[in-house]
Amino acid sequence: MAPADIDTLVMTHAHPDHIGGMVGANGAAFPNAELVVTGVEHSFWTDAGIMAQAPEEMKGGFQLAQAVFGAYADRLKLVEDGAEIAPGVTMEIVPGHTMGHAVLHIDSGERQLLMVTDAVHNIDLQTALPEQGTMFDTDPALAAQSRIRLFDRAATDNVLIAGCHVHFPSFGRIVRSGEAYRYVPTSILG
Ligand SMILES: [Zn+2]
Repeated sequence: MAPADIDTLVMTHAHPDHIGGMVGANGAAFPNAELVVTGVEHSFWTDAGIMAQAPEEMKGGFQLAQAVFGAYADRLKLVEDGAEIAPGVTMEIVPGHTMGHAVLHIDSGERQLLMVTDAVHNIDLQTALPEQGTMFDTDPALAAQSRIRLFDRAATDNVLIAGCHVHFPSFGRIVRSGEAYRYVPTSILG
């Protein structure tokens, strides 16, 4: 499969480690792909006032996000919380890590997967101490609230989860453990 064969890119949030590969020296790295992102996320990174107030070390992040949005300007799809972006694939805003940070709920009809994206960076630490965030969270208190809600839902629904920073095998389940939670890695075949 070539980059030109990709028809949809999902930007869960605009941090550099999630979007850097979307552009190359000649602009869009995927010439035929529609770029899907939440309207909230797009508004945040393209807001000149927010960028002006951001710490100096974050300015490069704004510039990269704006370069990516610019490269896909004619095929940018801004969605709201709960949008079905492909059959069985729902994009939900889980704010705090970034303000428009999205998770994906994927439902095949038989099985479900909750892609928790960057609500989690260290799954073992953060299931034990779910209020614990990282320096990369835009609003750490909001991110913690969102994470706890997500863990609670994953435990209640016993749904398979995956995350962008979850260690091998990258898939698992969340179970309750005392006042907090515990992560149980699993095979996607299980
Ligand atoms: Zn991130």
